[in-house]
Amino acid sequence: MPVTVGSKRVLLHSPEKGWTVEPAVLHIDGTQIKSIKTYPNAEQITATSHWFGDDLVTPGFVDSHTHLALNFMRGGIAAQQLSGNLVEDLFFKMEEKITAADVSAFTRMGAYECLLSGTTYVWDHYYHADAVADSMVQVGLTGTVAATLQDLSGPGKEDWEAGLTFTQALNGSAYHKQLGIDAALGPHATDTVSEDLWRKLIDLSEKLNLPIHCHVAQSPEEFQRSQAQYGCTPVDFLRRVGALDCSSDKLLVHMIYASQKDFSYCQTDSVRLVACPHSQMIFHFPAAFSDWWRADLNWSVGTDCAASNDSLRVQAEMRTMATWPMNSLGLSPEYNEFRRSASAIQAQGMSALRQSILREPLMNPTEQTLLNVLFLGNAKRKTTHPRVTGLSGGSFANLLVWNWDDPVFWPGQSPLHSLIYADIQPALKGIMTLGKWRGLVGDVRRSVVNSSEYKAARREATERLNQLLDRVGLK
Ligand SMILES: [Zn+2]
Repeated sequence: MPVTVGSKRVLLHSPEKGWTVEPAVLHIDGTQIKSIKTYPNAEQITATSHWFGDDLVTPGFVDSHTHLALNFMRGGIAAQQLSGNLVEDLFFKMEEKITAADVSAFTRMGAYECLLSGTTYVWDHYYHADAVADSMVQVGLTGTVAATLQDLSGPGKEDWEAGLTFTQALNGSAYHKQLGIDAALGPHATDTVSEDLWRKLIDLSEKLNLPIHCHVAQSPEEFQRSQAQYGCTPVDFLRRVGALDCSSDKLLVHMIYASQKDFSYCQTDSVRLVACPHSQMIFHFPAAFSDWWRADLNWSVGTDCAASNDSLRVQAEMRTMATWPMNSLGLSPEYNEFRRSASAIQAQGMSALRQSILREPLMNPTEQTLLNVLFLGNAKRKTTHPRVTGLSGGSFANLLVWNWDDPVFWPGQSPLHSLIYADIQPALKGIMTLGKWRGLVGDVRRSVVNSSEYKAARREATERLNQLLDRVGLK
């Protein structure tokens, strides 16, 4: 049965006006928004089935790179810093022993965590992707699922053919499409996938119009292996093999060991560089985001995973990115010089440098660009999915309701700014995906965490983690 959701403050997007907050009513039919009607004055709105008055209604957030199941290693990276080579000794060991049922149980927990932070659409990448897709359906999270494909090394080395078969089956599955799950090709990285397999995947992506979602230039080892094997950088390898020129969308995640020349190969909107700032600060160090912006590249944000980030809140990643430009000042040679021999003249020079960064338009993404990233997963506004287009006709009925009375929005003059820069999480009061409320509106977190479905999911995940630790010999 069609429902209507209305408020005095609905976050809308149009090519003419960009992102605006206006009185509006959404007409929802099944899993999709059918149409939207705006009003110059909220008093003109008559009966709606769900009226939220002053509250802010927005689309859900898009997380452009995650591994939902990896929460089973939460805190693991921090432990690595204490004990040396935990990645090889523990991570790979555990991932080699992990079963589809384990991935299913851990993904459910990750999907709940995502949803409760306001993320309604994810780009996931993991082994046993069939289990990932099914768990997302069970929790009500929508997204694009990539089976991790690797034929040279890594825990999925023996399973890439099954992963590829599943990717094609998922792409043709009307059942999953209807439930908001689509497929992407998921080559793991440039050093774990052979040139032959890369070529095969690029051909397939062209033929089936499937996005390519991969890690690129994420470690010095990957960089060194690329130099040794191909005599070029990982990004240049992707260019030579034809990945950057193919017509499908490409999500290149991390891009830490990428040069300015590499960035010049990425100047097409179908290439999206994905920033995961908090994860990168823990597993390695942050990529040169300022260079991405200076080169005017398309980009988006992801959380990566709880193993390296400890959080799946993509809006927190956005907050970090939005305040990023001034980091370059703190790391500049000028500031280094100031610390070495502080003087009033140098302090003045730092102030001038700050002003010059503020005046560089590309170095300071606008609010509109940041909202594109947060709600569409794409800085350049062209949506990457026909049904993830914000609150508009034809889009998934994925939306969030925010308590306007919460102090995080007060005095209420700049809701767009608050959505980017404030810690708005405490004000989240309603979550809808695919036209269904998840938990109770007004009591969303408590009602989900107290539900029998969540309790059963948590119990199963705990049991399976204990059994996995047993199998690996860690209990
Ligand atoms: Zn990742």
